[in-house]
Amino acid sequence: MENENKIVNMPLIPLRGLSIFPYMVLHFDVGRKKSIKALEAAMAKDQRIFLTTQFDIDIDSPGQSDFYKVGTVCKIKQMLKLPGDAIRVLVEGIQRAEVDTIVEETPYFRVDVKTYTDDTTVDRESRALMRSCIGAFEKYIGISNRVSPDVILSVTAIEEPGRLADIIAAQLTLKTEQKQELIEAVEVKERLERLLKLLLTEVEILEVEKNINDKVKSQINKSQKEYYLREQIKAIRDELGEEDAQEDEIEDMRKRLKKLKLPKKIDKKVSSEIDRYARLSLSSAESGVIRNYVTWILDLPWRKETKDEIDLNKAQSYLDEDHYGLETVKERVIEYLAVRDLTKSMKGPIICLVGPPGVGKTSIAKSIARSLGREFVRMSLGGVRDEAEIRGHRRTYIGAIPGRIVNGIKEAGTKNPVFLFDEIDKLSSDFRGDPASALLEVLDPEQNKEFTDHYLEVPFDLSKVLFITTANTLSTIPRPLLDRMEVIEVSGYTEFEKLNIARRYLVPKKVAEHGLKKAQLSISDEAILEVVRKYTRESGVRELERKLADVCRKAAVRISKGEAKSVRITDKNIEKYLGKSRYHYDLIAETDQIGIVTGLAWTAVGGDTLSIEVNTMKGKGKLQLTGQLGDVMKESAQAGFSFIRTIASEYGIPEDFYETTDIHVHIPEGAIPKDGPSAGITMATAMISALAQVPVDRFVAMTGEITLRGRVLPIGGFKEKSLAAKRAGIKKILFPHDNIKDLEDIPETVKKEIEFIPVKTMDEVLSHALMKPGKTPVKRTRRTKAEEAPKTDAGERHED
Ligand code: ADP
Repeated sequence: MENENKIVNMPLIPLRGLSIFPYMVLHFDVGRKKSIKALEAAMAKDQRIFLTTQFDIDIDSPGQSDFYKVGTVCKIKQMLKLPGDAIRVLVEGIQRAEVDTIVEETPYFRVDVKTYTDDTTVDRESRALMRSCIGAFEKYIGISNRVSPDVILSVTAIEEPGRLADIIAAQLTLKTEQKQELIEAVEVKERLERLLKLLLTEVEILEVEKNINDKVKSQINKSQKEYYLREQIKAIRDELGEEDAQEDEIEDMRKRLKKLKLPKKIDKKVSSEIDRYARLSLSSAESGVIRNYVTWILDLPWRKETKDEIDLNKAQSYLDEDHYGLETVKERVIEYLAVRDLTKSMKGPIICLVGPPGVGKTSIAKSIARSLGREFVRMSLGGVRDEAEIRGHRRTYIGAIPGRIVNGIKEAGTKNPVFLFDEIDKLSSDFRGDPASALLEVLDPEQNKEFTDHYLEVPFDLSKVLFITTANTLSTIPRPLLDRMEVIEVSGYTEFEKLNIARRYLVPKKVAEHGLKKAQLSISDEAILEVVRKYTRESGVRELERKLADVCRKAAVRISKGEAKSVRITDKNIEKYLGKSRYHYDLIAETDQIGIVTGLAWTAVGGDTLSIEVNTMKGKGKLQLTGQLGDVMKESAQAGFSFIRTIASEYGIPEDFYETTDIHVHIPEGAIPKDGPSAGITMATAMISALAQVPVDRFVAMTGEITLRGRVLPIGGFKEKSLAAKRAGIKKILFPHDNIKDLEDIPETVKKEIEFIPVKTMDEVLSHALMKPGKTPVKRTRRTKAEEAPKTDAGERHED
């Protein structure tokens, strides 16, 4: 158990930066003269040498106090002369020893050392320590890659605890002081304890180190892997012969992207998409998707814009060049442009051109674009229900594409076109999202700077776009949208205006479009009027344009067949070209009729006449309504009915009619559904006429809302209605007194032919509309006064 202590004399070499344990084999180079002498002396004797470690590695010729006093007695196994004077030695550690006396210092250190021999007995404590050390060492090996795992096998086989400690210690990467600590642990258990402590600390440090390394490594690994895979794909593509085309394409994409100088975030995103694309095979589905995406982004005019040239004179002349009449509209447009020019702001309201189809709304918007020198795009909102149509589908959808806004911008090729939203009143919303709110965002100058299409995923600046909208009616435009807009009304044309538009614009345009020369085709004014009257029924001129195109086509055929050198169209031969006429405006009956009244309606496509028919029959006072009518119309029929009960006696209507007579009101089908309260007085008049059996003046038309007390309330679309009345040959229009201010909008040509009579009450309406026998209107006395007169009057007729 006791260490066997002997004093032995031998040469000493202080090692620089090296330590040696017993059982350890070490080779090192010796260059210092003193050390070489020590070696030689050792070789000359028993090849034993005492090796210990210098405190400071930099000291060249150490003195007695410059090295540790505890070291290892070694046996020199081999010596090799190196070029120069140096010698490489191979030594093996034998046992620990401690300097007892330094016998001499020159020519080399000669010392008396006290040797220690390890205690080799194994008790429980030392066994436990040994196991712990082996365990910790195993861990150490597992983590650090510095020791070969085989070592563990030889280590576990060691029985002596001291030797085990030394052999493990020799394998560790430790600092000189730590090693020295172990060398100086002469007592075996203490040595094991120190070793265990060191091992555990080392393992801990190594673990942290490993974590860090793993992280770094995984990053490196990933990029290495990507690189490797990319190279593989390249090779595969090479084999398939795809390589060049795609490489070129990708190169091209990168170049274009760079040129666009997109904001950093967007640029980064697109760049990474291009990278992804480069990694995929051309034939993969995803590759197509990404390619589409990148192409979309690259094709958009991110920076391209036209320079505005607001010259109001030019704008005026463009508007005049393209459009006949429309004076107020043109004026409003010019004002709008002037304000924009002065404020230099894009934030003004958005123009909304409202009017029936074919009155030139689109064409005005085009002229605005032309006069600003901007591109023009048009998008019809009719029937758009899905928000995705405006904002696009997310790319996760199969076959996703950007919305129509982005599409339009791409089509325009500039970021500041004039963008026309057609038929904004036809926008509807359902479960697929609310397109109106998406549109609101598009039109809002605060938000549209960062308009984000679902497909593009990156914002596109729409703030430079000049938006214009059109609508047939304002009533169905969502309120928040309407609030942003400056409404400019474009109303329907009179016959005279249509004639002029056709003569000056449509005919020359169609003639040219059909490759005809001016001299080859002439259309007389009478012929044009004939087309307007009998072949079309519209407020605008779209249908007229189409009919004129038909005429041109037929004429072109005749001329190219050689049937004629030139064609002249008159009202006499027009039927040959257009076939039998479709419409007849002679709606006015041959005679005045009982229970039939002409009303005036305003529909989305302009004004129209509507003939309301009422029949009475024996019954229980039921009011039946049939034909084309909506809820509002039904209510106003009801109101009229109630009113009639209060005045029945005045018109010779039996007071109990609402108990004995059924009333049937019918509104004949028209092409376009009509609703609204403005047929109120018409229905009431027809009912009274039928109940009182008094005919109605067939040349009278009327429009106005009715109240329960028989007052007449104002209506809309007065001008359109008057145009329709003129077409129908009406001579007198009864209209609400409150609409007098609208008379100034009525074209002179209409005023010349029709007498406009403002009315405040049903009494007035009836006095103008109802005929007495002998064709004079019923002269009604005041209700409060003589109730008898009309009663007898009507009553007589009733008995006839
Ligand atoms: P909207 O957009 O109101 O439905 P468009 O602008 O499409 O109508 O007009 C239909 C056709 O009628 C176009 O060819 C247009 O040039 C022509 N047009 C309409 N109004 C006029 C006008 N006042 N002068 C000349 N042409 C017109």
